[in-house]
Amino acid sequence: MRKPLIAGNWKMNLTLESATALAQELKESIGDITEVALLVCPPFVYLESVGEALQGSHIKLGAQDMYFEEEGAFTGEVSGKMLKGLSCAHVILGHSERRHILGEDDELIKRKVHAALREGLRPLLCVGELLAQRENGSTEKVLKAQVEKGLAELSAEELARLVIAYEPVWAIGTGRTATPEQAQQAHAFIRGLVAGLYDEKCAREMMILYGGSVKPENTGKLVRQPDIDGALVGGASLKAKVFADIVTSTREVYAEARQAS
Ligand code: PEP
Repeated sequence: MRKPLIAGNWKMNLTLESATALAQELKESIGDITEVALLVCPPFVYLESVGEALQGSHIKLGAQDMYFEEEGAFTGEVSGKMLKGLSCAHVILGHSERRHILGEDDELIKRKVHAALREGLRPLLCVGELLAQRENGSTEKVLKAQVEKGLAELSAEELARLVIAYEPVWAIGTGRTATPEQAQQAHAFIRGLVAGLYDEKCAREMMILYGGSVKPENTGKLVRQPDIDGALVGGASLKAKVFADIVTSTREVYAEARQAS
């Protein structure tokens, strides 16, 4: 059974003080949990302080983006090497807000994926359809293109260090969660794509997270789905108690599943 991963995407929120306080609260409430892999992705400018606050806990640190070049004249950008220097383990890439607000395309995201892996970071590659695409029946076409382009030219060893996050854009920050059935269908489709591009073993081992208005109330039903390996949580990751409830709910579902198997 794949160990679930719950990741918090803090987006462009919090102050230095509130970000550090949130990290401390998380360390105290869920920092000892080992049955669920835990990750928080604060804004770049808080990475160092949040990393220090999390020291001694099992909660890993990740970034929300990076650039594909190692260094140079790229004003405003942050490299994978810089993130590694701040003890980041993961980096979110291709988030829908970067695709649709900041204009990132699949080619740029692919270059970032390669650069992250070169640096020893684990990319969380986000994919997902817009509402209009779901409504006109092109969800699978969109997911296929994003997955194929995002994974292009990766070896099976590189693939094994990558996590995919299925995040339907219409569910992000809207309070409208995909139903467990809709999410499961998309996850199974993505896993099938990985099997076709690589093989069954790679597909079986691929971590696929769901993201889009995950809350404590819907976590159990989502992570119970056979192809959902955890969650990428936005808004609900900003409150320690709420995020902790999502984590403990995931832990319970997996404990039950382990007992039953
Ligand atoms: C996200 O930003 O990745 C996300 C899923 O946000 P929310 O949980 O707020 O929908």
